[in-house]
Amino acid sequence: MAQPFDVCIRGAGIVGRSLALLLAQHRLRVGLVQAPRLSLSPAMSSSEPPDLHDNRAYALNAASRQLLQGLRCWPEGTAVTPVTAMRVRGDEGGEVNFAASVATPQPTTALAWIVEVAELESCLANAIRFQPQIEVIDAPQPAGLTVVCEGRFSSTRDELGVDFDVASYGQHAIAARFACEHPHQGQALQWFSQGEVMAFLPLQGPGGNSVALVWSVSESRAQTLMALSAKDFAAAAQTASACALGTLSVVGERAKWPLQHGQAQAWSGKTAAGQAWVLAGDAAHTVHPLGGQGLNLGLADVAELANTLGTRDYWRSVSDPRLLRSYERARRAGLAPVGAVMDGLQRLFAQPDTMVKNMRNAGMQGFEHSGPLKAWVARQAMGLN
Ligand SMILES: Cc1cc2nc3c(=O)[nH]c(=O)nc-3n(C[C@H](O)[C@H](O)[C@H](O)COP(=O)(O)OP(=O)(O)OC[C@H]3O[C@@H](n4cnc5c(N)ncnc54)[C@H](O)[C@@H]3O)c2cc1C
Repeated sequence: MAQPFDVCIRGAGIVGRSLALLLAQHRLRVGLVQAPRLSLSPAMSSSEPPDLHDNRAYALNAASRQLLQGLRCWPEGTAVTPVTAMRVRGDEGGEVNFAASVATPQPTTALAWIVEVAELESCLANAIRFQPQIEVIDAPQPAGLTVVCEGRFSSTRDELGVDFDVASYGQHAIAARFACEHPHQGQALQWFSQGEVMAFLPLQGPGGNSVALVWSVSESRAQTLMALSAKDFAAAAQTASACALGTLSVVGERAKWPLQHGQAQAWSGKTAAGQAWVLAGDAAHTVHPLGGQGLNLGLADVAELANTLGTRDYWRSVSDPRLLRSYERARRAGLAPVGAVMDGLQRLFAQPDTMVKNMRNAGMQGFEHSGPLKAWVARQAMGLN
């Protein structure tokens, strides 16, 4: 009997939903396995209870924006804020600045776009509702190919016996929202200090007065910061940001995520029963959020896999190992430079040694004036290389 689906996608996060929509555009029949609401939580370490509140906003690059626009799922209005400039500060006077107008050979409107997560998820869910090629299901079903998009704690990846090489940073990222005294003017701000990384991502459009905070700190400091009153927490962030946006006040809840660098040893294969599978998104790889690249990498997986399957020779099935290996090769190559830079930066700025501290800040100054190197890094982060 014919299988009901060409592709069964396990996990309806942003990666799983985007992939389902893109494969449907290629006329493939897709089963999308949606987990019960409880597991839609921020990923917490196994010893901690899940926290169901997701208050993040993602920095998405030009490649991700193009993909989501192609799906008609790019949120509108103030749910998207273009980042026209970015200022990064080191801990001993180092400073790097990026501006959209000079980052690439052609002027660009934005370095990145800060997108409200809830808004993006709802655009994708609505599009899926109107796509007859996709059926949302509550349990996996047989298909030509299974794509695992279950995020970093994927149980299917474990069932497949795939090892996930993980290095914990011993850090948590605290996410929160602030209303600010001064408008952000489309500027993203980031500070590296004593192993901590703090970022303010602009929200609510170019004239907005609020930012999304991502503050990566040691586990013990995360506990202390989370225990502070909203007023004291805002004061701590205000001090750490040298009052860059004036007085801050917390809006809504705070949440925290454990941070790790991880990569699956295999991204594609077949089960003993001959069922073909691939991994995509956080199920395949996780990076430190300091560069805002995790989902951008996941959406690059989506684009590559959909293109590989959608443009295959008519006589090849979606389970053809040659196709799946070519997807794996291409995406490992795409991940390598981004993963190495995120990991390297985190480790470099975690070194307390004074000599290293001076060198890294001098390095930032050198990089600031490096011309082509700086332009290349900016293009890489923007998904344009
Ligand atoms: C603090 C922080 C800030 C970040 N900021 C950025 C940023 O600015 N830009 C950026 O690009 N990235 C950012 N990231 C990374 C980004 O969050 C992830 O890369 C992205 O969410 C991965 O999407 P995903 O769909 O692969 O996985 P997930 O978002 O984890 O989704 C997986 C889905 O699968 C479901 N699921 C799990 N198990 C099962 C199962 N057994 N069966 C069925 N379904 C299952 C889950 O419920 C969930 O819906 C950040 C990460 C953190 C921690």
